[in-house]
Amino acid sequence: MIRLRLKPGRDESVRRRHPWLFSGAVAFREGDGSDGKAEVVDARGELLARGAYSPDSQIIARLWTFDGLPVDADLFRRRFLAARALRERFVSVGTTGYRLVNSEGDRCPGLLIDRYGDVAVLDLLTGGTARWEAELAAAARSVFAPTRLIVRSSAATQDDRRRDSSRESRASESDLVWFSENNLKLVADVALGQKTGFFLDQRDNRSRLRTLAQGRTVLNLFSYSGAFAVAALAGGALRAVDVDSSEAALALARRQRVANDLPADDADFVRADVFEDLRSRVERQEHWDIVICDPPAFAKKRSDVERAARGYKDVNRLAMTLVAPGGLLLTCSCSGLVSADLFQKIVFSASRDAGIPFSMVARAGAGPDHPVSLDCPEGEYLKGMWLWRAGG
Ligand code: SAH
Repeated sequence: MIRLRLKPGRDESVRRRHPWLFSGAVAFREGDGSDGKAEVVDARGELLARGAYSPDSQIIARLWTFDGLPVDADLFRRRFLAARALRERFVSVGTTGYRLVNSEGDRCPGLLIDRYGDVAVLDLLTGGTARWEAELAAAARSVFAPTRLIVRSSAATQDDRRRDSSRESRASESDLVWFSENNLKLVADVALGQKTGFFLDQRDNRSRLRTLAQGRTVLNLFSYSGAFAVAALAGGALRAVDVDSSEAALALARRQRVANDLPADDADFVRADVFEDLRSRVERQEHWDIVICDPPAFAKKRSDVERAARGYKDVNRLAMTLVAPGGLLLTCSCSGLVSADLFQKIVFSASRDAGIPFSMVARAGAGPDHPVSLDCPEGEYLKGMWLWRAGG
């Protein structure tokens, strides 16, 4: 256990129960942090919080308790039980893939647990929580009782919630875990896939798309495994095209369609850079009834934000140009560093550049299995807007 003593006047955010402690606030460290446990005290030595110690991160500790409670196996169990109770209230029958534990939103900063059918994936997001692996895995087994628990560690990429997949290795069958989402059969590649193998955070948007898709054409940009297209086709879409740069993702997309008895023509899976693909579609003056644009996080660190803003503006301007009059665009950003307000400004300026008026008909982020702590608004990383191109 290590004791982190704060600089005078730097205790305010901890007193407000913000779970992130930045290294700049720490005056000195006492003890050994090899067990990943940290105790935070103010300049006078008063105990403020306890949490997970990540010496290599700017966020040097993620704080779990603010009331003197120790961080131990019993706390893990109680936090997981509370998380389970929330899911029992919100997740509908017909859905066996959802997030069981959402980091700060479940007062378990630095870890995620996703459920895919009988399999659970525990993702240790920080150096600190990675050190608690054995105890966290034991608590997850006892509370969620999966037939298989897979432990991943994305500690090195903790704030990069959507990694680009440059890895193109084939998934082994045992790593492809099938589950249901609103009675559709979907698959997570729990070993090599992005995130914990699937993007559970878009479930509500997929289910909305399903209700809007009857008789429509759908262009699904940055499709990953094409789950949006599956939802659209299940809702009666005329055609849905997935565009992604990853061959492995598109291979999963094909399998998901086949599993649901949906059409899977070769031409519906386009391996391309979305920016280039969009430019050629704009040149061909294509029009689509519904365009989905859900790119990876363009901003991974603060210095990326300006460049990311240009990327979002470009991709949205091009995507808007393809929306048929009367059609819809679902545009998303999962960059935690791009606020909802900034994202809206970027998208609105893209519409000015495109010279096409759009109206926002709904905002939609992650579902209730991704709770966001009011003490840590940074947890609301996914921002989606449904935009309508007014016809007439
Ligand atoms: N919409 C998906 C999740 C998207 S994750 C879903 O709901 O499941 C982002 C995806 O974008 C990844 O599959 C990644 O391979 C892909 N990607 C990243 N950069 C890209 C680019 N420039 N062109 C095409 N695809 C890209």
